[in-house]
Amino acid sequence: MKKIIIIFLFSVSSLYCGFFSDTSSYSGKLYNFVKVDYFGVHDEYETPYFVFMGKKPGPVMILDGGIHGDEIASYMACDSIVKYLNLLEGTLIVIPRTNIKACNINQRLVNIDFNHAFPGDLTSDVYELRLAYEFMWLVDSLKPDLIINLHEAWTKWSPEALTDPDKAYGQIVISCVKPFEDLLVRAVDNMNKNIPEGDFRFHTHYYSVREYSSLDNFVLKFGIKSYTVETYRGFEIEDRVKLQLVAALQFMEEIGLRFQYPAVSF
Ligand SMILES: [Zn+2]
Repeated sequence: MKKIIIIFLFSVSSLYCGFFSDTSSYSGKLYNFVKVDYFGVHDEYETPYFVFMGKKPGPVMILDGGIHGDEIASYMACDSIVKYLNLLEGTLIVIPRTNIKACNINQRLVNIDFNHAFPGDLTSDVYELRLAYEFMWLVDSLKPDLIINLHEAWTKWSPEALTDPDKAYGQIVISCVKPFEDLLVRAVDNMNKNIPEGDFRFHTHYYSVREYSSLDNFVLKFGIKSYTVETYRGFEIEDRVKLQLVAALQFMEEIGLRFQYPAVSF
């Protein structure tokens, strides 16, 4: 019996990062598997990401944080999802620190703005371009139904944003497609039902296509739905992480993933 247990543990640990250890919320339930993979193996930007596979197949979604290394609520929210999510149906890929070198020094960028390095170049000397190429390759191989990019902003949204784009940012969800897709409108309406009335609530926002940006490359090159969530950095970090979580979890629900995650309350 001891031998069987040892073989089982070895086979699990060699393939997966393991089962969740916190069973208090999900006592008696079966857990999803989480596989760890990497961008840039043996390169300066080697970056782990987490592939959650539910017990049943279903929609596929990518959630990325840390494209800008100083937007800390984005990767704190991803870390929380990696720790507490139990995915029942579908596949979720979580990349908490997409630009890990910038995250490690808590700066927006290292050489160039990674979010402006798309579609990337695998032969470049600049790691941000190699990373962007790998990210595009991952998207092309997985062909997800939805990609959600988590960001933060120093500018706070005000009603003037409806006519002046410079007044936008925290709290918005950006699309480069107009009219807005039903999925976006529904997701923002529903996430706001879980957010107290006032400045914390999200607004849909349109920006025209920029050919170098991550979001626009996902949409234009692959025809995949993708939106960028921006929280306002003037809020307390605890609230920013909750707002990122509410947005990410709502998109997961709207695209049709089935999952368990502890309630987020303000
Ligand atoms: Zn950003």
